[in-house]
Amino acid sequence: MIIDPYTWRKVSVTSKSFVTKYIVSIKFDRPTDYRFKPGQYCIVRIPNQISRTVRQYSFASGPNDDEMELLIQREPNGVASNWFYECHQGDKIEITQAFGNFTIGENTEHLTCFAGKVGIAPFISMMRYYPHIRFSIVYATSSREEMIDLSSIKGKNDIYSVTTSDGKRVTEDFIKTLSKTSTYMLCGSKHFTDSISDLLTGCDIKQEQVLLESFTLQ
Ligand SMILES: Cc1cc2nc3c(=O)[nH]c(=O)nc-3n(C[C@H](O)[C@H](O)[C@H](O)COP(=O)(O)OP(=O)(O)OC[C@H]3O[C@@H](n4cnc5c(N)ncnc54)[C@H](O)[C@@H]3O)c2cc1C
Repeated sequence: MIIDPYTWRKVSVTSKSFVTKYIVSIKFDRPTDYRFKPGQYCIVRIPNQISRTVRQYSFASGPNDDEMELLIQREPNGVASNWFYECHQGDKIEITQAFGNFTIGENTEHLTCFAGKVGIAPFISMMRYYPHIRFSIVYATSSREEMIDLSSIKGKNDIYSVTTSDGKRVTEDFIKTLSKTSTYMLCGSKHFTDSISDLLTGCDIKQEQVLLESFTLQ
């Protein structure tokens, strides 16, 4: 007998909205007693006629919010992301318990974060849940249209937008202009987290100060 290590909960999509052309916000009610920490993710199973597709998605909502939110970026020909792109209110998905160590201590005062595209999702959850922490967030996308509007949750935090179509790029010189923090959190594609990690090392930031979450293998 195969023992399933996951506790699956069925939830209904309560809303789907486009936060950018290629990112959808999916909301559903938080199941009773569902607990997670900002920065964690769940495994999502979507209904599929051939097989049931399973993917990981980080929480963008805060742990105490009644509604849970996932931000899903459309992947060309991607099975799950395109299902979410097309889904409707009332469609059912299944989610597991929360997983992941991409989390921060309550006593943190100031944190520097680097987000590539939809890699902003866990930092949105953190900004929503930890109003006492000051976040310096470097938010990198290819173009301005790909950038989620963070004005309603920005608060006292610093958000540095870096859009490569404007000829901008995160560089060592840019990183040196940021105030130093004891921990640096990176989230996005593996290309993105690897390249920022190398830049941080070049700025004499130690590997043990860097916490990263890669959404893709490439
Ligand atoms: C911890 C973690 C957290 C994550 N959080 C988020 C998040 O918050 N938001 C988010 O958007 N994503 C997140 N991801 C990524 C997410 O889990 C999916 O990988 C992503 O949505 C793509 O899934 P998909 O089914 O749409 O694409 P897939 O169907 O997996 O396809 C991905 C790519 O591979 C190609 N491909 C797939 N199968 C084949 C094949 N048989 N032959 C050739 N090419 C193929 C596709 O064309 C596509 O370009 C996270 C990943 C991890 C590991």
